[in-house]
Amino acid sequence: MSIAICPGSYDPITLGHLNIIRRTSRIFDRVVVCVMNNAAKPSPMFTVEEKLDMVQRAVSRYPNVVVDCSSGLLAEYARQYEGAVIVKGLRAASDFEYEFQMNLINKRINPELETMFLTASEKYTFLSSSVVREMAMYGADLTGLVPNEIIADIQRKALLWRKP
Ligand code: ADP
Repeated sequence: MSIAICPGSYDPITLGHLNIIRRTSRIFDRVVVCVMNNAAKPSPMFTVEEKLDMVQRAVSRYPNVVVDCSSGLLAEYARQYEGAVIVKGLRAASDFEYEFQMNLINKRINPELETMFLTASEKYTFLSSSVVREMAMYGADLTGLVPNEIIADIQRKALLWRKP
């Protein structure tokens, strides 16, 4: 059985992420979406539980996709799935530089682990979780940026963040 891992901060999940997850689910038998509790991104908008819940609702339409989380190193996390491949989305040259470096580090930790990249869909190349967070803070319409089923969650959280 072929297994892909789609890691990310998912703070929150966007339609760009979902596009990569959906395309990966067509190529691999099983996809594990792993919400990484990343020390490099210290002040997330959402808790891991909230992120897991939103990702779960967004991917529930894909039968071969499961959701998990990890606060460890991705290269260590991946060891539990034999032969699993990391699949990531690439938006621009800036993504490439970062991902290339991460891939080399992952290879040092776990030489068996392969990473594959899918190019971002043209309509989502501008989209990132930080853009969504910023738009939400200004009360902007999030339709077309994130899955419809999580818009209310983001708006609710943005309201809390706006309050002093
Ligand atoms: P972000 O960069 O938005 O904070 P993550 O850290 O959660 O996102 O990224 C997880 C993965 O999803 C990365 O491989 C990233 O390149 C990819 N990704 C993020 N946004 C998009 C998008 N709009 N289209 C394609 N891939 C994306």
